[in-house]
Amino acid sequence: MALTPMMQQYLEVKERCEDCILFFRLGDFYEMFFKDAETASRELELVLTGRDCGLEERAPMCGIPYHAASNYISRLVQKGYKIAICEQLEDPSVAKGIVKRDIIKIITPGTFTDSSFLNEGENNYIMSLFSNEVRGICGMSFSDISTGEFNCTLCNNDISVVLDEISKFNPKEILIQQNLDDKLVRAILEKFNVSFSKYADEYFCKDGLKNIGNQFKTLDTKEVDECIMYSCNGLLNYIKDTQKITLSNIDVINIYDIVDYLTIDANSRRNLELTETLRDKTKKGSLFGVLDKTSTAMGTRELRRWIDQPLIKKSQIDERLDSVKELTENLSLKEDLKIALKEIYDIERLAGKISSKSINAKEMISLKSSINNIPKVKEILSKFKSTLFKKMYSNLDELGDIYKLISEAINENPSLSVKEGDIIKDGFNASVDELRKAKTHGKEWIARLESSEREDTGIKSLKVGFNKVFGYFIEIRKTNLELVPKDRYIRKQTLANTERYITEELKEVEEKLLGAEGKLIDLEYGIFVEIREQIEKEIGRMKNSAKIISSIDCLCSLATVALENNYCRPNINEKGNINIVGGRHPVVEKVITSGNFIENDVLLDGDNNRFLLITGPNMAGKSTYMRQTALIVILAQMGSFVPAKSADISICDKIFTRIGASDDLASGKSTFMVEMWEVSNILKNATNKSLILLDEVGRGTSTYDGLSIAWSVIEYICKAPHLKSKTLFATHYHELTKLEGKIQGLKNYSVSVKEDGKDIIFLRKIVEGGADQSYGIQVAKLAGLPEAVLKRADEILKNLEENNNKDVVEECTRCNKEITTNLIKETSLIKETSDKSSNYLKVDEAALDLRKESNES
Ligand code: ADP
Repeated sequence: MALTPMMQQYLEVKERCEDCILFFRLGDFYEMFFKDAETASRELELVLTGRDCGLEERAPMCGIPYHAASNYISRLVQKGYKIAICEQLEDPSVAKGIVKRDIIKIITPGTFTDSSFLNEGENNYIMSLFSNEVRGICGMSFSDISTGEFNCTLCNNDISVVLDEISKFNPKEILIQQNLDDKLVRAILEKFNVSFSKYADEYFCKDGLKNIGNQFKTLDTKEVDECIMYSCNGLLNYIKDTQKITLSNIDVINIYDIVDYLTIDANSRRNLELTETLRDKTKKGSLFGVLDKTSTAMGTRELRRWIDQPLIKKSQIDERLDSVKELTENLSLKEDLKIALKEIYDIERLAGKISSKSINAKEMISLKSSINNIPKVKEILSKFKSTLFKKMYSNLDELGDIYKLISEAINENPSLSVKEGDIIKDGFNASVDELRKAKTHGKEWIARLESSEREDTGIKSLKVGFNKVFGYFIEIRKTNLELVPKDRYIRKQTLANTERYITEELKEVEEKLLGAEGKLIDLEYGIFVEIREQIEKEIGRMKNSAKIISSIDCLCSLATVALENNYCRPNINEKGNINIVGGRHPVVEKVITSGNFIENDVLLDGDNNRFLLITGPNMAGKSTYMRQTALIVILAQMGSFVPAKSADISICDKIFTRIGASDDLASGKSTFMVEMWEVSNILKNATNKSLILLDEVGRGTSTYDGLSIAWSVIEYICKAPHLKSKTLFATHYHELTKLEGKIQGLKNYSVSVKEDGKDIIFLRKIVEGGADQSYGIQVAKLAGLPEAVLKRADEILKNLEENNNKDVVEECTRCNKEITTNLIKETSLIKETSDKSSNYLKVDEAALDLRKESNES
């Protein structure tokens, strides 16, 4: 038995897109066959049928109507599938033999651009990674093809550094080399559950990087590291292979250095709930949720980027702060700006649609009305004095030529499809006008036909109608058949109660009319494409204006939030001091239901107040205090006002946190293991400009073990020459408070509580000095533990306290030596297995110092 020709064609096409679900166009349907049909029917709940394919067994098949495809495609893409769209390349009615078909586009999670299904306030990134194991570095490229953004960077290929950088963009799809280090691949897979494609090195080096030169005309490739170039080239190849065209909106490459932004490691991003909550991954309840008062989709995306990438250059931070301040002082101008911004649609994504040739006439009109507001924005900008606004004013292109072209050419209320006509304005093109006249003429003649024929025949119920298959016709009820003028009327179609006729005259007019209509549709489409191409040449300018508008939107949003929530302008310094007076947690202060949020001060300096050891019972507010400190630093570095009475913020290079439970059970690691892994990462990568938050380090193991580890970590952070980082360390080990005065820079703080008989009242105030009690049993009581259990716990506690006459501190000093040695061993072990960065070497030297010290004591 042989395959049918159609099936042969199908299999030939399928061979070229093995990893995709193939949507094979047959008439008005996209059909899927074999495994693809089984997958799609399961994922989309479609009926699975079969089709004769020439073989003994029928081919499993399912299909969807082509006009409803986008919904199905988006559902499959969201589930991580790739879809290849195979279209008929010729008109089946004129094709000889089997209709030519080919793949016209591959839609993947990272290259999906259908704006009706994309979250407008979120970028859709695809990334590629090219690593050079010998040099120990890798290049990474991130692009959002719907907006044309393209970013590249270079970093050492240490797992945590790579993961941190990826978490900044949270891509939907990742391209990697086939032979990329297995450990790195597994770590990426574990952290980011996204679509992966593996390619041989040649894919990244293909065509001698010609692609890059074509795409980024002004880039001097000799100036850029080859790892970046290969990752960039690989990504461009993939975009071209899937889109089947070169996207002109990807025209500017942003090569950045990871140290240009505040480094926030992947765990801290999650723990601090910067853009989504830990629990249900929603924006509401995150810092982004509080800060987002933007008016445009572009502004929302830009604000998310500002949160994900706070700045570290003082001048840049101050520029943003100056502008936010100016907005808070000029309320009516701020309101005017907001009103103008609200009318601006997503110019970035509209530009993307122009470059992917998918824009329709209605979207062109949206583009026009958006551009119409740019002069208003510019006019308002002219009234501001701060440097950033002045720069924006001089760089903001009003795009008047594009506005003029669209308003002259495109109908205000055009049809949705560019292939239905009615998109070009009257008066723009003489041939369009002429054909329209012919069409109107014919239509008027037909409109008059009904009454003249009624008169001629005397049939009152005579009707002139139209349908797509038969064209125009005269419809007569069967009861009136004897009145039909047989010499003129030619029978066309018989229905149950009526007969349909045509006349020679009607046929002639119809031919002219339909001819004109067809020609008009083609002509209008041709003109539309010309206009689109003309605008495509100006995409760079459009993107520039869009970028400025999104930044204005962010600044307005920050000013609104500052005013509504009573934030203050932070002073930015580079001296190493953080001094926050009356600080609050930006999210918690908005959600607490019982009582007011209690403000707290933070003083961190390079001297005696470098390491804050915070004690106090559970629920007292320790972790809120620590988080708010990190959030205030992040806010300040993104150029935002901060929730405090006053704030002097030293620019940090990195923020690390080890807060809350972060079980990684899926990857088979216990809470304790994850905690130690995170701590070791912090100890390796922090610097004296970093801010570290550690919450209850060591609690996942037995008391003495835990206390010893906590102690040793404290010593290490305070003493290792490369660290001496500003640290907030919350703990239940009250024994550690004895370290104040013994370790330089360490200072005790506690969260005050008031005893009320057997109960406690949380005051939430951070005060100097350590706490001497944990009040664990009182907190357990608040949580509703049964009375009997509480009573017994109280008895046991008293017993333990009475019998425990050994000095715990003494005991721990002994323990501590062992643990320090173990920790050092562990660090060296990790070094042996994965270290490529010089950071470890530094740590190792420091560790040696520490080991010497601990042996001596
Ligand atoms: P801890 O880390 O000490 O166990 P948390 O920081 O988790 O305590 O705080 C527990 C709860 O107390 C928070 O969820 C919040 O509702 C409340 N809280 C914390 N800090 C404050 C504050 N400064 N003012 C008011 N309520 C607070």
